[in-house]
Parts: sequence; structure tokens; C-alpha cells
Amino acid sequence: MIKNFNAFKKSLQDGREVYYRGKLVKDVTKHPITKLEVAPVEALFDEQYWFNNPDYGCRTSRFWNIPRNSADLLERSKITYEITKELEMLWPHIGSDCMLALRVSTNTLGGVFKERYDAFAKHVITNNLWLACAQIDSKGDRRFRPAEQPDPDQYVHVVQEKKDGIVVRGAKLHTSMTAIANEIVVCPGRAFKEGDEDYAIAFAVPPNTKGLKLIMRPGIASEGAKHQAEGPRANWKRMGESMTVFDNVFVPWERVFVYKDLKAASGLALLFALFHRLSAVSYRTALAEHFIGMGKLIAEANGVDRAPHIARDITDLIVYTEIQRACSRMACYECHIDKRSGVAIPNNIYTNAGKLYSNSNYMKVMNSLIDIAGGVACTAPSGEDYANKDLRPLVKKYMTGAVSGEERFKLMLLIREQIALLGGEEAVIYIHAEGSQEASIVELYRSYNYTETKEGIKKMLDRMVF
Ligand SMILES: Cc1cc2nc3c(=O)[nH]c(=O)nc-3n(C[C@H](O)[C@H](O)[C@H](O)COP(=O)(O)OP(=O)(O)OC[C@H]3O[C@@H](n4cnc5c(N)ncnc54)[C@H](O)[C@@H]3O)c2cc1C
Repeated sequence: MIKNFNAFKKSLQDGREVYYRGKLVKDVTKHPITKLEVAPVEALFDEQYWFNNPDYGCRTSRFWNIPRNSADLLERSKITYEITKELEMLWPHIGSDCMLALRVSTNTLGGVFKERYDAFAKHVITNNLWLACAQIDSKGDRRFRPAEQPDPDQYVHVVQEKKDGIVVRGAKLHTSMTAIANEIVVCPGRAFKEGDEDYAIAFAVPPNTKGLKLIMRPGIASEGAKHQAEGPRANWKRMGESMTVFDNVFVPWERVFVYKDLKAASGLALLFALFHRLSAVSYRTALAEHFIGMGKLIAEANGVDRAPHIARDITDLIVYTEIQRACSRMACYECHIDKRSGVAIPNNIYTNAGKLYSNSNYMKVMNSLIDIAGGVACTAPSGEDYANKDLRPLVKKYMTGAVSGEERFKLMLLIREQIALLGGEEAVIYIHAEGSQEASIVELYRSYNYTETKEGIKKMLDRMVF
């Protein structure tokens, strides 16, 4: 059982093969960049994030409260929102998003798959293990299905079946927090058709499994923010993604949860995406509140908060926030209960509508923030200039607006981090993480119930007299 932060750090010193900028990372808890992923986890050992879990008869993370109704789902959405608001962590929900989806899928499959899932879930939850979820494959040439790819490894697949398990090969991309996970849960990332059987699998392995390589993305914002005040967020914590390579990795049968099952694998891909997008709209509401706070304080600091176009900019930020909040809540209120597992499943339409809105309006609200701030959001002097006792009085004097130069300067460092230092990374997160815009469009178009809307129009047609 990982009872405290020290035990968590120790659990990561297990010989995992993690690479950062071409070099093997000996200890992820000590490496200057990966340690920024590790450090914020300490806060999650705080009592407020734990509860007495009736399903497992012990204290566990609140993320392991199995949602069985709207109220439970709302509570789940609220924890994600609160953790993001307090700690700016966008990922603690990931493990439970994928375990909930697997719970539903394996209950539907029943038999040995349900038994394996139940044993794995108990192991994870009662030992307080951290999970990464690897869903998105390298995908190769997007025109081709998995089995049609010129290179069969472009989707993770079974290459050998053994008495005691399977051997898998391929790579998943963009897997968040693998370097600091205790287990990597591998899920399918798309719907499958006949011929794709070898790809229709789900399983879990610990990151130190032989043949598994984690090639981390560079933490450009954290590396660039040499001065703490210039990267208050990037220097405090970061999210790390890996190219997660399975080079003939052995997976014992007890860790295989879906096997060569086109229907179950396709359903699992959609279900994980649904739980994950509800979490996304929940954490994005908290981040969007930061945009409002930043926008309003900067408008006041510049003395322009009463200008009509600035009011419009700020209301853009408000609408962006509140539409996401409304969608996340409606997705919980209008959930449905899966009969076999008893799990409450978020409403597909509200979840995807909120997520699509979030993806497609991010650049618009960044435009509003930049409009409010002015060019100094890019051109303000550096933290080192402010630390220089001869320059500080000049910086203070000429950064003065409707508030003191010091306050306005700090606000400009914060917004520069938001739009410049972290801006590139965050734009990609907002537009692609938890699924691209097209993924939500496909889901909305496919699953919307058009009956009532069509009937209303048909009634009008019937009333027409020629
Ligand atoms: C910061 C971050 C963290 C992430 N964390 C995780 C994680 O923890 N686990 C995980 O599994 N994934 C994770 N992801 C992956 C994320 O879900 C994907 O980036 C997203 O689903 C888009 O997939 P892609 O990146 O492969 O882009 P692509 O699928 O290549 O999309 C690029 C464009 O091509 C279009 N396109 C793709 N295929 C087709 C097609 N066949 N026909 C027509 N158009 C097509 C898309 O709609 C899009 O417009 C993360 C991503 C980011 C940015």
C-alpha cells in the first residue's frame, strides 16, 4: 500500500526505462524535469482527497468512489474541478476514467474478464496505485485501418499467444504521466472491423516491464522558465507525456481484460473517451475561471475595465467558463445507469457538446485575453531585470498602471507564461487532449436523438395546404 508521498517516490525507483532528451533517466524522482511531475502528487495524500470506500472496506482516493447515480457523478466532476482549481493538476482522474470504462466493459463480457478486472481493480485501489492510460496509437497513415497499415505495428497488437499470456508490439502516443505511474492501462483507441482482431485488446502492465520504453516529450516551458517568477506554473509542476513503446512486451493472461473482441474493444474505446471527456470539461471549467480572474485583474490594472470592447472580451471568458460548467453538470444530471455494472455513465450529448465547445473556442478566448493585456504581455522585462536593484525602480515606475508597477508587472509575467511560455503546449492540450474536435463531432452526429426534432418539422409539413 502506497500510504504516503515517500512510499510513492520509492515505488517509482524500479528500473523503468524512461528517456528524456535522448538520455536514460536513472531516477524519475530526481531528474530536473520529471521530478516536476512527481512533486505535486504529495498534495493528493491530503486527507480531503480520501474517503472510506464501502466497495473496498478501506480508505481510498475519492476518485475510486464508483459513481452509481447523478450525485456520485457530480461529486466526481467536482473533485476534478477542485483539484485543478487548487493544484492545477489536469490528470489525477485519468486512471479512474479508464478503470470505470473497463469496469463496464468487463461486466458486460463477464466470466474470466470480469474476474481479472475485479482482481486488478482491488490491487490498484487498495494499494493506492497510480495509473496512466495509453489509448492513442501511433496510427501511421490515417487513411488505413489497423490491419491495413503497411507497417502492422502502427497500432498495438498481439504478436504471439503463449500458455501464460500474450506478447504485444506497437506504440501508444501522448500517454500522460507514464513516467510516474505504477501501472499503464492500455485501451483501444478506435472502433474496429473484421480483420482487426489482433488489435482489439485491452491490458495492463507496470512501467518497468521488460521491452517497455517511455520516451518523454521535452518540457520546453519548464526548461525555458529559468527564473521562477517567470514560470510560476511551469516551474512548479508539469504534465509529461511519453511515446510508449511496446517492444515485444509480455502480458500475463490475468492482466488481459479484452481479447480479440471487436465489439467489446470498440465499445471500450468510446466509453473511456466519454468518462475522460467529462473529466476534461470539469478540469477545463476550473482553468477557464483562471482566465476570467486573469482577464479582469489585468483590465483593472490597465485601467480599461469599463471600456465596452474589454467588457466583451471578459464576457467571452465568462461564457467560455459557464458553458463548460453547465455541460459538465448536465452530463451528470442526465446520466444513465449501466444495468450490469451499476455504473452511472455520463450523458453523451452534453459531455461531447461541452468538450467540442471547449476545444473550438480556446483560441478565441486567448485572443480576448491578449486583447485585454496589450503588447506588454509579451514585451515586459524579465524577472532578472526586476531582481537587479538598479533596474527595479525603473521597471516599477514604467509598469505602473491603475495599480502599482509591481502588481501589474507580476500580472504580465503570469499572462506571458499563459500565452507564450505555456501557450503553445496548452493550445495543443485544449485542441487535442481527450480527443480532437472531430472525435466529438462524430459522436454528436452519430448519437443525437433526432426523432423529436424531425417530428416537429414533419408536423409543420403536414399542416401545409396547397
Ligand atoms: C497534452 C496531451 C495529453 C494527452 N494524454 C493522453 C493520454 O494520457 N492517453 C492517451 O491515450 N492519449 C492522450 N492524448 C492524445 C489525444 O487523445 C490525441 O492527441 C487526440 O485524440 C488526437 O489524436 P492524434 O494526436 O493522434 O491526432 P490525429 O488523429 O492525427 O488528428 C489530427 C487531425 O487529423 C484528423 N484525422 C485523424 N484521422 C483521420 C481520418 N481517418 N480521417 C479524417 N481525418 C482524420 C483529426 O480529426 C485531426 O483533425 C494526449 C494529447 C495531448 C495533446
